[in-house]
Amino acid sequence: MRVLVTGGAGFIGSHTTLSLLEQGHDVLVVDDLSNSSEESLRRVAELAGREPGFVKANVRDEQALDAAFADFKPEAVIHFAGWKAVGESTQIPLVYYRENVGSTITLLETMAKHDCHTIVFSSSATVYGELSEPPFVEDAPTGATNPYGRTKHMVEQILTDVAAADPQLRVGILRYFNPIGAHESGRIGEDPKGIPNNLLPFVAQVAAGRREKLMVFGDDYPTPDGTGTRDYIHVVDLAAGHLAALDYLGNNDGCHVWNLGTGKPNSVLEVVHAFEAASGVEIPYEIVARRPGDVASSYANVDRAHQELGWRAEKSVADACADTYRWQSANPNGFGEG
Ligand code: UDP
Repeated sequence: MRVLVTGGAGFIGSHTTLSLLEQGHDVLVVDDLSNSSEESLRRVAELAGREPGFVKANVRDEQALDAAFADFKPEAVIHFAGWKAVGESTQIPLVYYRENVGSTITLLETMAKHDCHTIVFSSSATVYGELSEPPFVEDAPTGATNPYGRTKHMVEQILTDVAAADPQLRVGILRYFNPIGAHESGRIGEDPKGIPNNLLPFVAQVAAGRREKLMVFGDDYPTPDGTGTRDYIHVVDLAAGHLAALDYLGNNDGCHVWNLGTGKPNSVLEVVHAFEAASGVEIPYEIVARRPGDVASSYANVDRAHQELGWRAEKSVADACADTYRWQSANPNGFGEG
């Protein structure tokens, strides 16, 4: 199948592009490289033994997108491109609405114009907010507590409305829990710019000596060890979930929502200890105040993805720590060198 992948040079996009190429699909990546590097695509090509096409453009660029669709004639789209920092989204909300919501509207209009009727969208478990208790099922009430989360929630609603209006459209909404890890080759992985917001990249940089210690945001949550618990899912498992969703949409129309997680919560300290075991490096940490906006616990009910997609996460947090450490050690400056 010909699959157009927006944001395909980023962390989850690059791993999914690799899986698509490995499964024999043709891929065109559309990415403006605002938070990613073309080097990731060179390495994807090296691992896959063949190249994805690449257009450097923002998804809101109607002309560039139109030309890409006219040229590549995609049969399906996977839409990763977007801004994703919660804190930043509270400072510059309009950029988030423009880049995340505006881009999706342009993409859907361009798809309709070019007779492309299948889209898989990167959503987030953040849409469960604090409206119910984990494990979250897909039918739980949704909402969001910050502009980033609201953009994901709005795009889910837009996709639902557009699918209701157009019976030809096939939509898969994937709600990611906490993606971690790297490809086992150590050639591609997560390359955050500046100080990482997320736990695993921060821990990896402490292990590499780039940061002195981890700040653990609170140890007084109602969890077994008091630190927050999350559902950490290996990025290679996540990539496989996208292929399973595409397969499903090949045989089923309508709009569908699936959680992609492991179904198992792990605490911050469990992740720290798993990383220490995988790397042999001690991770100094300090318990500090809770981070505003954090919930105590978030993890998935994964029954629907298993039943409908035949998909399940296979890799463990230990695997992800080993892969992250391999990637970090071989590429101390991410895609910037090596
Ligand atoms: N966390 C932490 N220190 C950090 C980054 C994260 O203690 O430097 C904790 C955070 O409070 C949460 C978990 O690690 O309990 C996962 O946070 P992350 O930002 O990776 O993902 P989130 O679930 O917030 O999207």
